[in-house]
Amino acid sequence: SVPLTFFAGIGGASRASVLVKGANYLEALADVDTVVFDKTGTLTEGRFALSEVQPAAGVAEGDLFRIAAALEDHSTHPIAQAISGAFTGDRPAVTQVEEVSGRGLRGQIDGQTALAGNARLLNEAGIQVPAVENIGSVVYVAHQGCYLGYFLVADKPKADAQAAIQGLKDQGIRETVMLTGDRQAVGQAIAARLGLDRVETELLPQDKVTALEKLQADKRRVAFVGDGLNDAPVLALADVGIAMGALGSDAAIEAADVVLMTDEPHKVAESIAIARRTRRIVW
Ligand code: ADP
Ligand code: MG
Repeated sequence: SVPLTFFAGIGGASRASVLVKGANYLEALADVDTVVFDKTGTLTEGRFALSEVQPAAGVAEGDLFRIAAALEDHSTHPIAQAISGAFTGDRPAVTQVEEVSGRGLRGQIDGQTALAGNARLLNEAGIQVPAVENIGSVVYVAHQGCYLGYFLVADKPKADAQAAIQGLKDQGIRETVMLTGDRQAVGQAIAARLGLDRVETELLPQDKVTALEKLQADKRRVAFVGDGLNDAPVLALADVGIAMGALGSDAAIEAADVVLMTDEPHKVAESIAIARRTRRIVW
């Protein structure tokens, strides 16, 4: 595997929290003109709090929770903890549980299919769900072909997320983009708040790859910043793949060219600045 270059930076040890896997990536970083971010865990904290529980008509809240928690216990997605952690009651046994990429969870409970995830997951199973106006990410739940209700969960931007975007603009980065599997209302609200140039929402992991390919076809030199949860292929495809190192998965650290050990998005602009300065000194 590739040896890690300890990127102490020109400006001293205070910046020594960015790992670059070789001088060629420092070079590529200096040339980046477009920075694409994943949302959850990258621009947001990746810690969801439960803000609403809404059982369907005639469904007991406890039954909604039992099915949802039974499934979410098997997930490592940051949404899962908000639901399974909020319910201490007994759960039924689940078999054949699987994460459905960009959608949520599917398993078998009492010999019947149980689902917890976004509208796409339930719609694909032929189950209609109500629109939810309140702001947040929605986890819909179904069992035995019946809609049981939803949970609203909310994450928040990292403390430095807005400064991270501003820092890139200050350096003349041509475009800042956020890609997310989350719904439009959530993605657009966060993008507006953080000042991103563009946002694409309701993407499947494969759609994130396609979005990056489009930018590269347009001759952009793209850095993609992610946490590796579902987005390792995008990290690998980008001209510079930048992973969150502390929260990020082993897959992210493996797939990335640059690792931010402190998980702070403002380190992206800082890294680009250091890479550009380094090039000026070397050349
Ligand atoms: P992001 O682009 O924010 O990283 P993901 O691709 O990880 O999002 O997930 C996209 C969407 O899939 C989430 O916003 C959520 O609606 C749904 N989802 C994924 N995993 C789960 C889960 N464990 N429970 C419920 N919903 C989930
Ligand atoms: Mg993700």
